[in-house]
Amino acid sequence: MFADLHLHTNFSDGTFTPEEVVAHGHRFGFAALALTDHDTVEGCPPMRRACEAHGIEFISGSELTAESDGNELHLLAYGIDIAHPRLLTELARFQGVRQNRIREMVARLNGLGIPLAADTVFRLANCRAPGRPHVARALVQAGHCTSLDEAFDRFLKKGKPAWVPKFKISAADAIALIHEADGLAVLAHPGLNRTDEFVPDLKAAGLDGMECFHIKHSTAMAEHYLTLADQYHLLVTGGSDCHGMNKGRPLIGTIKLPYEHVEELKAHLAARRARAVPA
Ligand code: AMP
Ligand code: ZN
Ligand code: FE
Ligand code: FE
Repeated sequence: MFADLHLHTNFSDGTFTPEEVVAHGHRFGFAALALTDHDTVEGCPPMRRACEAHGIEFISGSELTAESDGNELHLLAYGIDIAHPRLLTELARFQGVRQNRIREMVARLNGLGIPLAADTVFRLANCRAPGRPHVARALVQAGHCTSLDEAFDRFLKKGKPAWVPKFKISAADAIALIHEADGLAVLAHPGLNRTDEFVPDLKAAGLDGMECFHIKHSTAMAEHYLTLADQYHLLVTGGSDCHGMNKGRPLIGTIKLPYEHVEELKAHLAARRARAVPA
């Protein structure tokens, strides 16, 4: 039995609907799936229904963009209460930041002589948590770039002319928020953000787990993070980070996390809830 605990849908910057992601997950025989859209939990109810229809276990989640000492890192929130008032208030704030950032990126592109309207990006994104992949898709659709990679390389990557920095919650505040919403906080793709040096501080702030298995982690990297997770007593998770057809092919099915890690995640969630003091 296997799980994929890192998936995106069209409620953020993936191209599949929750139903489509689950249909792919079913085809690969996954026992459990988690939805981790950026800064939103809106896709969770339809994804849960689709999972139930296929007899797949569903874990609610989200991926928060946080920072530690000015370095970006992503935190996966698992098992969160998707109706938690402060979580929803904070997510709405992050979504507002994303929308303003799209306007700023479009203004920079306009300054570079590229006629693109923010509304074109918003229409294409058709969600509350738009991001750079939507700007990239708009650039490709309008014929200004031939691929998403080209759009990122020429304009959207950090330091490129249309890149705009984004407000980020501190990692400690993000972990506290996830815990307040009854969830577990997991450091996403540590190999991508080179975040090893922050692990002790993150652990002290309450980090629960580490995404050891990720599509962009080599086998050696996965082994390195398994050792680190063991050393810091962190849960082990993994996922494909599938964004639908964004990368040309769906990545779901490329990472198969052994189900025992889902059991441990669920045991920790239950223990956290049992410890929580009723209000
Ligand atoms: P944002 O949250 O707006 O900063 O956008 C980050 C997202 O852009 C991540 O989810 C990545 O998957 C995606 N991304 C980063 N680089 C590329 C690329 N070269 N091509 C397509 N998507 C990318
Ligand atoms: Zn994304
Ligand atoms: Fe990420
Ligand atoms: Fe992701």
